[in-house]
Amino acid sequence: MVSPYSDDDSDRYRELYRKTPIMMHSLDRHGRLLAISDFWTEVMGYSRDEVIGTKLTDYLSDQSRRDAEETNLPQFFRLGYIRDIPYQMVKKNGEVIDVLISASSEKDADGNVVRSMAGVIDVTEQKKADREIYRLAHFDQLTGKPNRFLLRDRLKQNLAQGAREGQRVAVLFIDLDRFKWVNDTLGHHAGDKLLKVVADRLSGCVRKVDTVARLGGDEFVVLLYGILSNEDSATFARRFLAELSRPTLLEGKEFLNSGSIGIAIYPMDGKTVDTLLRKADMAMYAAKEQGGGTYQFFSSDMAERARENLSIQNNLRRALHNQDLTLHYQPQIDLSTNRITGFEALIRWDTPSLGDIPPSRFIPVAEETGLIFPLGEWVLRTACAQAVRWHQSGLPPLRIAVNISARQFARPDFIEMIETVLQQTGLDPRLLEIELTETTVMEHIQDAIATLTDLKVRHINLAIDDFGTGFSSLVYLKNFPFDRIKIAQEFVRDITENHGHRAIVEAIIGLSRTLNLHVIAEGVEQQAQLDFLRAQQCHEVQGFFCGRPQPAAAIPQLLSSSRLH
Ligand code: C2E
Ligand code: MG
Ligand code: MG
Repeated sequence: MVSPYSDDDSDRYRELYRKTPIMMHSLDRHGRLLAISDFWTEVMGYSRDEVIGTKLTDYLSDQSRRDAEETNLPQFFRLGYIRDIPYQMVKKNGEVIDVLISASSEKDADGNVVRSMAGVIDVTEQKKADREIYRLAHFDQLTGKPNRFLLRDRLKQNLAQGAREGQRVAVLFIDLDRFKWVNDTLGHHAGDKLLKVVADRLSGCVRKVDTVARLGGDEFVVLLYGILSNEDSATFARRFLAELSRPTLLEGKEFLNSGSIGIAIYPMDGKTVDTLLRKADMAMYAAKEQGGGTYQFFSSDMAERARENLSIQNNLRRALHNQDLTLHYQPQIDLSTNRITGFEALIRWDTPSLGDIPPSRFIPVAEETGLIFPLGEWVLRTACAQAVRWHQSGLPPLRIAVNISARQFARPDFIEMIETVLQQTGLDPRLLEIELTETTVMEHIQDAIATLTDLKVRHINLAIDDFGTGFSSLVYLKNFPFDRIKIAQEFVRDITENHGHRAIVEAIIGLSRTLNLHVIAEGVEQQAQLDFLRAQQCHEVQGFFCGRPQPAAAIPQLLSSSRLH
């Protein structure tokens, strides 16, 4: 072996060099290995004889070899030293290790490097840990897709690249329509599986340049780079919807899902990460409001609507505080006696600045902001107190129906709130009816039976509102202690013209009979509808034809005059 040293102690140095517990090597001016430490051969799995005389670059990965030849070696020959240069070395068994190499050199009289000596530090474990930390910080654990941080990063890159190349970027915000239901009824295991399936299906429909990320929960975002037109992103959206609606096997059963997609496009809808994500989210909500299973492009109306929502929210808070809300009462009529048996309480809000705002507009805002809790309690208390007052003034006992929103129903103190109001107003619980939509019950299915049973034990009546429009499951219906089904307005409306809807109404009436439930038809506006319902032996009706919702003061008069024909 040729010694890198020329002094007299070379044997002693050679011995020390070999025994050092560090990977060390010396190279000649051509980059060939002159000497190596034992530890070097140990780590790399080669014998000394195999290695001496070969080039160091033979032990580098392809990429590191290129880096060495193109950048690091020329620099080394120029400077005479290098420090902590990252390389990947390939062991004899093929395993790749990450190392940092530092080297110094000996130059001849002309300043040319004649030989060098280097220390090599194995940082493979450190690198692995770094990569793991990166993965944990940037990828979603469940689906392995980029998380919200990496998504923002990618979108930022996409936007910069889009600006340079004059390309568009589409941001698609995707939310599953019934994820909560899957989680609650089939369990988290099924929910997790569904999310993985969805992530894979979405990835399966995009190109290499695109990103599929999971924001958390059942929210995904897809970035499409360089799309040509809106129609282009709509095509992707339709493909995603088709993929989402393919059945998934969950807990041994085929489950059909759907999703809602909102689309915002750079540069038309915005130029920053935050704006585009916010607008895509708004558009997704608009798709949700249409009942899901569809996509929507962001439009300025949506921003307008969001501003309006904010104004509603502020005004509603004040209205609640100032008691600017009122209740109207709509009669419910028994078809066998033609008498009013009860009233549904419906909230009314006439604002000085925004005009008459219908509940369908402000109740969702109240739900979103949590205002529904004080508002819902106010409705219940006012309606119950009114019913007591009517009874005290000599009117016959009348049932009072109150609408309850999903969020109220889901609150752990819901029953307690009702109990308190009943006690404070002194209303007989038998005269109170709670109206819940199918969706409300289905969304909270795990606790629903317990809560409903609890209400029933207290003799409170339970009605399913807008039956037929939600995500109904007759199997569940059978297990729930409901007293009354309210047939949704939209079926009753065209009962006389639409065969399909007529059949649905007949079926619902038949079903209620079988399940021993009372049935009431909503939205009766014409004599012909009333006649049909009577013929079908529908128990009760409610609608403009029989009486519009009216202020409390008008009710005593209505009771004395109303008769149906
Ligand atoms: P809903 O509970 O299904 O109430 C029936 C709706 O149909 C009421 O609309 C009523 O005015 C309307 N209606 C009644 N008869 C007819 C008819 O013959 N034709 C037509 N076209 N409509 C009829 P409203 O008062 O605008 O309420 C809409 C929805 O807002 C209600 O639907 C209910 O879901 C919700 N809502 C109303 N008041 C409250 C409340 O105090 N709390 C909660 N959580 N929701 C409420
Ligand atoms: Mg109702
Ligand atoms: Mg209804």
